[in-house]
Amino acid sequence: WLREDRLPHIYCSGCGNGTVINCTLAAIDEVGWRRDETVFLSGIGCSSRAPGYINTDSLHTTHGRALAFATGVKLARPDLKVVVFTGDGDLAAIGGNHFIHACRRNVDMTVVCMNNQIYGMTGGQGSPTTPPGAISTTTPYGASEPAFDLADLAIAAGANYVARWTSYHVTELTKAITTGLQTPGLAFIEVRTQCPTNYGRSNRLREVSDMIEYLRSHAMLVQKYERLIAEGKPIPEGTFTIGELVRRNRPAMGVQP
Ligand code: SF4
Repeated sequence: WLREDRLPHIYCSGCGNGTVINCTLAAIDEVGWRRDETVFLSGIGCSSRAPGYINTDSLHTTHGRALAFATGVKLARPDLKVVVFTGDGDLAAIGGNHFIHACRRNVDMTVVCMNNQIYGMTGGQGSPTTPPGAISTTTPYGASEPAFDLADLAIAAGANYVARWTSYHVTELTKAITTGLQTPGLAFIEVRTQCPTNYGRSNRLREVSDMIEYLRSHAMLVQKYERLIAEGKPIPEGTFTIGELVRRNRPAMGVQP
């Protein structure tokens, strides 16, 4: 599936995006989709370079518009399997409107969002998921605004399947994407990824050791929430939820009968 003629890739050392691409391709292998029936779409940003490394038909579209293009592809060719790679800036800022309405419509596609909480490629500006207090090139004194919780947003807008993991959780992430590929309607998988480059673009995980520590603490959160879910208890409101999975039975556009 990989286009070796495009290697070496342009991602910075230590970037989490390659892990997400690998997990997505492993999930597609798992469900047995063929290259000639699968199409990848993306917008603009580091995450959106991903389809360029995959040996299928793909559309590298305009900033924030991948979901609109993907909706068009699915409605015109419902026989195609549609996968979208996007990032937090692409999806939740300029593409925020398309995001909520694609979830509301439940168009049959899988959306994988590499959420590194910052604009990486374009210069390290704060994004809609930059945590309050985090330093970026546009928030030199710390972000002053609350951040979007992308999984919560997708759930509220009606997406049929929503999961959240990190680039550290390779097995869990691959399983979540596999489930998303098989679930009718819009499957949204948020992946918390690190952006450790030091060229003024890094998110708050500036060193790889910070990233490992951060992801370890989130692995503990997964266990915490898995236990709560198994006990039938609600996940605490306002707390960072991870590994959450929601299924709803609603009709989905673009689903083959
Ligand atoms: Fe990855 Fe950040 Fe580099 Fe972009 S700027 S390739 S997200 S590490």
